[in-house]
Amino acid sequence: MKREKITLSFEEMPKSWYNIKAELPFKIDPMLNPGTGEPIKPEELAMLFPPSLVEQEFNCEDRLIPIPEELIKEYYVYRPSPLVHATGLEEYLDTPAKIYFKNESVSPTGSHKVNTALAQAYFNKQDGFSKLTTETGAGQWGSALSYAGTKFGLDVEVYMVRVSYDTKPGRRHMIHLYNGRVYPSPSERTEGGRAILKDDPDCNGSLGMAITDAVEMAVKSDDTNYSLGSVLDHVLMHQTIIGEELKLQLEKANVKPDVLIACVGGGSNFGGFVFPFVMDAINNKDIEIIASEPQACPTLLEGKYEYDFGDTGKLTPKMKMYTLGYGFVPPPIHAGGLRYHGASPIVSRLVNEGIVRPDDLPQTEILKAAQIFSLTEGIIPAPESSHAVASTIREAKRCKETGEVKTIVFNLSGHGFMDLSAYDHIGKL
Ligand SMILES: *Cc1c(COP(=O)(O)O)cnc(C)c1O
Repeated sequence: MKREKITLSFEEMPKSWYNIKAELPFKIDPMLNPGTGEPIKPEELAMLFPPSLVEQEFNCEDRLIPIPEELIKEYYVYRPSPLVHATGLEEYLDTPAKIYFKNESVSPTGSHKVNTALAQAYFNKQDGFSKLTTETGAGQWGSALSYAGTKFGLDVEVYMVRVSYDTKPGRRHMIHLYNGRVYPSPSERTEGGRAILKDDPDCNGSLGMAITDAVEMAVKSDDTNYSLGSVLDHVLMHQTIIGEELKLQLEKANVKPDVLIACVGGGSNFGGFVFPFVMDAINNKDIEIIASEPQACPTLLEGKYEYDFGDTGKLTPKMKMYTLGYGFVPPPIHAGGLRYHGASPIVSRLVNEGIVRPDDLPQTEILKAAQIFSLTEGIIPAPESSHAVASTIREAKRCKETGEVKTIVFNLSGHGFMDLSAYDHIGKL
């Protein structure tokens, strides 16, 4: 079978991001100030984010937001990412389904996160800021932001979930290589961190706690902003470069997708991948959209749809989203990037409207899927991305049972070269 890889020329690359809020037939519930219960005003976010990003966060009018030329140049270092026809996986599964994947693992740090990291660093620099603080789970976001920061001349300070800091030294080294600084969270450097450590000195940490650390440091100083790797509307918008490219690549290959699949932590690779297709799903009802998440942190399937804080320390605005509760500390599964109690408000709403279906997967199935994909397609997936692989395998097997010839496209959000310990105890396939 011919193994097709579909790419785009520089001229064909999308030159704008897609702002889904300008097109959705419903309004996304606003963030609330936890003190007053009133919708957050743009001025209130100015403590954490630069004016350009605040404007993007509140923009519900413009369908397309132009990507600045300097950023397109940086995107071109690793984009467009290839769309690959996964013929090896199809043959192995002996399925009538057609399987394609968008390979975001080709970025400098090995995941989709660089797409928004570059944008956030660029706009912070443009708006006159010199330093960024952030949190990181497994380390992918911290390394992506460090890379982006050093490209645009910003200092980057990363608070890394303690359990990952201790068990994933590779990402720490990568952050250092890109001139970033990294500290374990909960951190002795912050009031919030010290309070948690006082009660629980051996605390594993969580993304919620690391956000508390990073936000506190950013609020304390004028030249410093905070940067979030997922969840917020502007972050998901930057990621739509993935889905926009995908749309063009599918047209070029004359392929019509029936099922779109991506994993969800905070929702950024998922949103970026599927948003350009959501209006088709709403209007024509002929695209199924699946969100893969870990059974150990089942935000979309078992969380409550309600207003909640984004962090453990209750420093962030409240967002209407699926949430397991701001105090939820997920077990330390391999997919560190999916250990988050909440999810993007836009993605949550799409689930609540029945436009997106959550799919929960146990870790054993994830590891097996990763092994199958490594052997059949020659790429070791990140444990996070393996959730999308596992849902794809479920769908392809269903097609085998029913004889349906569906076209399944999934997002390979990153490679697993920095997470190989996850695959240490796998038996032979
Ligand atoms: C961070 C990360 C995720 C989860 O984050 P989202 O915002 O939900 O995309 C998924 N895959 C990889 C490879 C990651 O690094």
